[in-house]
Amino acid sequence: MADSTAKSSRTRDLIKLLERRGPLVGANFSASSETIGDIKEFLNVLVVGAGGLGCELLKDLALSGFQKLEVIDMDRIEVTNLNRQFLFRLEDVGKPKAEVAAKRVMERINGVEIRHHFCRIEDKPLEFYEKFNIIVLGLDSIEARSYINAVACGFLEYDSDDNPIEETMKAMVDGGTEGFKGHARVILPGLTPCFECTIWLFPPQVKFPLCTLAETPRNAAHCIEYAHLIKWDEVHSGKSFDPDNPDHMQWVYTEAAKRAELFGIQGVTYSLTQGVVKNIIPAIASTNAIISAACSLETLKIATGCSKLLSNYLTYNGVEGLHTKVTEFVRDKDCLVCGPGVLIELDASVTLKKFIDMLKDHPKLFLTGVSITYRGKNLYMRAPPVLEEMTRPNLDFQLFELMDRTPKDIIHVTGTAGKGEKKQSCLRKLRVVFKGLDGVTDLDMAGGA
Ligand SMILES: [Zn+2]
Repeated sequence: MADSTAKSSRTRDLIKLLERRGPLVGANFSASSETIGDIKEFLNVLVVGAGGLGCELLKDLALSGFQKLEVIDMDRIEVTNLNRQFLFRLEDVGKPKAEVAAKRVMERINGVEIRHHFCRIEDKPLEFYEKFNIIVLGLDSIEARSYINAVACGFLEYDSDDNPIEETMKAMVDGGTEGFKGHARVILPGLTPCFECTIWLFPPQVKFPLCTLAETPRNAAHCIEYAHLIKWDEVHSGKSFDPDNPDHMQWVYTEAAKRAELFGIQGVTYSLTQGVVKNIIPAIASTNAIISAACSLETLKIATGCSKLLSNYLTYNGVEGLHTKVTEFVRDKDCLVCGPGVLIELDASVTLKKFIDMLKDHPKLFLTGVSITYRGKNLYMRAPPVLEEMTRPNLDFQLFELMDRTPKDIIHVTGTAGKGEKKQSCLRKLRVVFKGLDGVTDLDMAGGA
C-alpha cells in the first residue's frame, strides 16, 4: 500500500506531461499512457561522470522514470566530495564513485537498474557507447567532453545529399558548473552545434605572465603563483611540486604570505593557496542541482517529445541574484567532428601503412599515433600490444581490400591531433573515396568537397 502511494506520487507529474497534449509539445509527440512504460523498458541512458553533477543526474533521471541507466567514472571518493556529492558517506571514501552512486540510487528508487563502470571513458570500445539512446554529461573537463562528443558524433551518418540520417543521431545533453555559474545544452549531432562547433566557448585558461609574478604582483593570486611557479624551483632544485602533499602546500602558502607582506597585498590564505595552485573553483551544491534538473528535463524531452527542446544552450548565473538565458548557437558547417567527415581521396593501391603516413601530414588532421576501425572491425590498433600484434599484418594490405572493396565509406581514426603545443587525443571520422573506380563519378564527390 505504502509502495503504491509512493509510486503514484512519484509518477503523478510524469503522467501529466506524457498523457496529455499541450501547446508546447514536440512535433513527434503522441500523448499516450504507454510512454512511461516505454521509457522504462527501451531507453538506455548513459551518465558520464559521477561527481557533483553526476550524483544529481542519476537521482533526477531515475526519478524521471528512466530505469535503465549506466554510469561511468574513473574517480574514487574523497573526503572533500562529501559536502555536495550527496550519495556518498564517510565510510565510502576510497571507493569508486560510479559504484557507490549507482548502489545508493538503486537502494532508494524501486525498479531502477544502474550499471556502473569504474574506468576511463577512453578505455571503453566505441561499441559500448553505441547502445545508448542518450548520453548525459556531468563532467568538469573539456578534454573528456571533447572525447565523448567525438564518439557520439562518430556514429552519425549522412545520406548521399549530405543530410544527417536521424536513426544514427546520438543525442547528448551536456551540463557544466563552475561555482555559481552553470550551463545546460542539448546536442543533436548534425542538427545543433556539437561541442567542437562551439569550442571557443571554453577559452584557454588565463595564466599570469611570469614577469608580473616576478616583479609587479598586484593581488594575492600573483603572490601565490610566484611562490608556486618561481620560488619553489629556486629553492628545491629538481624536486617537483606535489599539489597533494600538504607540506608542499604549506611551504607555498608561507612563501606567498611573506611576499604579500613585502608588497602590502592582502588576502593570501591557505585555502586560497590551494585554490590557485590546484585551479579549484569551489563547487556549489545548488548550482549542480539546478543544472542537473535542466539536463534531466531535456533528456526526458528528447526521449518523449513531451515538449520542445531547449534550443540549444542555457546559461545560469547565480553570483548576484539570478540570471539565466538561452542562446541558439549555430553549427559550424565545416566541423571536423559532427560534419560528414573529412574527405580523403585515395588510389585503390594505397596500403594501410601509407594511409597512416598520409594522416600525419594531412593539413586538416595532423594525426599521429593512430588506431583505425572500419564498421566495427579493427584495421590497426596501436594498443594494447596483443591487439597491435594481431593487426600489424594489415599494414601491408591495401586499404581498399581491408574495406571489402567498398568504393566509398566512413572509417574512424583515434589518435593524437594537432601540431606543437595544441596536441590532443581525438577521434576523427574520415570519408574515404577511392578514385578511378566504377560507380564513383566526379559528380558523387562534388557534394563532399
Ligand atoms: Zn561540430
